[in-house]
Amino acid sequence: MLEHCARAMALGLDEIGFTEHKDFDPNDPVVDYFDYDLFMDDIAYVRDLFRGRLRIRAGVEIDYQRWFEPEVRVWLSQYPFDYVLGCVHYVDALMLMTDDYLQRFPTAQEAYARYYEEVFYSVQSGLIDIVGHLEYAKRRGVPCFGAFAPEPYRDLLFTLFDLMVEKSIVLEVNTAGLRQDARDFYPCRQTLQWYYERGGRLITFGSDAHHPDELAYRYLDAVQMAWDIGFREVAVFDKRHMQVLPLVRGRK
Ligand SMILES: [Zn+2]
Repeated sequence: MLEHCARAMALGLDEIGFTEHKDFDPNDPVVDYFDYDLFMDDIAYVRDLFRGRLRIRAGVEIDYQRWFEPEVRVWLSQYPFDYVLGCVHYVDALMLMTDDYLQRFPTAQEAYARYYEEVFYSVQSGLIDIVGHLEYAKRRGVPCFGAFAPEPYRDLLFTLFDLMVEKSIVLEVNTAGLRQDARDFYPCRQTLQWYYERGGRLITFGSDAHHPDELAYRYLDAVQMAWDIGFREVAVFDKRHMQVLPLVRGRK
């Protein structure tokens, strides 16, 4: 965390969010990996060190699957965070776009549609503040099915966005896809534009930086894209309370 914070300062960021993964599938090898107390100790340490210079938020990325939703509910009631990111990596215990997944959902249409449906359930659950890396299915979907186009899923996305707007759920613009096989933002520009057209105004930015060098990866491009669509605000969270700040283009 120390290196990430130092890097954030060097980049001129005002704040940084650490978002640890939490998994619930008992078959997942990392299911018991997350140690809340250790994580919060590390957060307290860097908050102390960077006090007055960098705002540091503590978040969690929930691997959402509908079948273990009750466990997520109990767990989140026990462990407080600044924000909860809901992310779909699996559907019905099948990792997106793996052979097993594609056996069940063999066409691109089915494979992507079932993914979006699960994201819809994550929003409906009321457990999350932010939809993380929407269109993550592209990561392996693009190598499988070729270039991604969101048009076949427009109606599904409209339904999802209408619910997000109704519940004031934030959409993350995640730049990790640009350095993965998807070679695009999660979500793509068209999808982000549809969110705006359906009344979505709440966005946040994530670089999914597993290494300090990836911190704020292509943020200026992400902010420019959002600005061009019409977004003028960015959502941040403190103890699950959302605050909206003006979106600023360019470097400080
Ligand atoms: Zn993820």
